[in-house]
Amino acid sequence: MTTEFASATLPIHPVAKSRLAEVDLQNPVFGRTFADHMVSADFVDGRWTNAQIMPYGNLSLSPALSVIHYGQGIFEGLKAYKNDKGEVLVFRPEENWKRMNRSALRMCMPEVPEEIFLDGLRELMNLDRGWVPTREGCSLYLRPVLFATDAFIGLRPSETFKFLIITSPAGVYYAEPVKVKIETHYTRAVEGGTGAAKCAGNYAAAMYPTKLAGSQGYHQVIWTDGKQHQYIEEAGSMNIMFVINGKLVTPAETDSVLPGITRRSVLALAREWGIPVEERKVSVNEIIEAIQNGSLEEAFGCGTAATIAHIRTIAYQGVDYELPGVENRRFANRVYNELEDIKRGRTADRHGWVMTI
Ligand SMILES: *Cc1c(COP(=O)(O)O)cnc(C)c1O
Repeated sequence: MTTEFASATLPIHPVAKSRLAEVDLQNPVFGRTFADHMVSADFVDGRWTNAQIMPYGNLSLSPALSVIHYGQGIFEGLKAYKNDKGEVLVFRPEENWKRMNRSALRMCMPEVPEEIFLDGLRELMNLDRGWVPTREGCSLYLRPVLFATDAFIGLRPSETFKFLIITSPAGVYYAEPVKVKIETHYTRAVEGGTGAAKCAGNYAAAMYPTKLAGSQGYHQVIWTDGKQHQYIEEAGSMNIMFVINGKLVTPAETDSVLPGITRRSVLALAREWGIPVEERKVSVNEIIEAIQNGSLEEAFGCGTAATIAHIRTIAYQGVDYELPGVENRRFANRVYNELEDIKRGRTADRHGWVMTI
């Protein structure tokens, strides 16, 4: 679909009074408090219109709204930090923009133009910079979302859409080492499905198996391939990596694996550091054997929320396999520190990964 859009800067409709003073920004409750403003734009009659920055607030929508019935909706997630100089730093937003547009294609939705996604995000951060926490470990989570807005319950792709970017201060993320269960019954994504798209339905479908795993004492499930449940794909809503005999091993990007930006960043750093990297099929048997013969050194999930989440226990067919202690995980700890330093502007941005506002 066309993505034509003319204006370079979005008109700003500021709030009459900021809510910032009412919020404890040093101890934010993630996902429930939202900053003063949002980016908003509509796709109508084949073009983007009405792009603006406006006060965060409720929307008035039809009960027949297409996304509510058929789930034609996609989202993104990224974070903004503040450096010592008070500048706002956003990590790799172009990658989120490109990924959102790939998700849009898969879901019969229009691409969002750069002027709305990236310039809008920049203007929003400029306006709401006071909402970016300065405390170590805290950040402002940015949530772009695109959804179908036709007031029509016939089943077909919507012709109208709304794009928003809302933001929520996020507290210190205690990335405790997690206990995970290899899922051999339920499926997150299959070949030819929507696993590579950040579409709403994927997360709704994952809730029940994740809840079951939770009731059995596990934080997350490790998703396996939908056909045989023999190959590892992801860890919850994170990508998954292993260090085996000094090599970094991770499932290749297929159409059932979400192409994580953290994943790609970790792989880029590993390659720079001269660590052998293998992106390929990773079988459950290989991982269990590597745990048993002691060649598995590290296992971790990676994604925007935690950056790196160490895995301490992997359950398979009713057996809990304990992994080496997290203090000795040289690669995961090193790559975590390096990424945090880049995101927070404490080390040079050699890769051009940071947008500074
Ligand atoms: C968002 C997401 C990831 C991680 O992607 P990042 O870009 O690193 O945040 C991994 N897996 C799933 C299923 C996701 O939704």
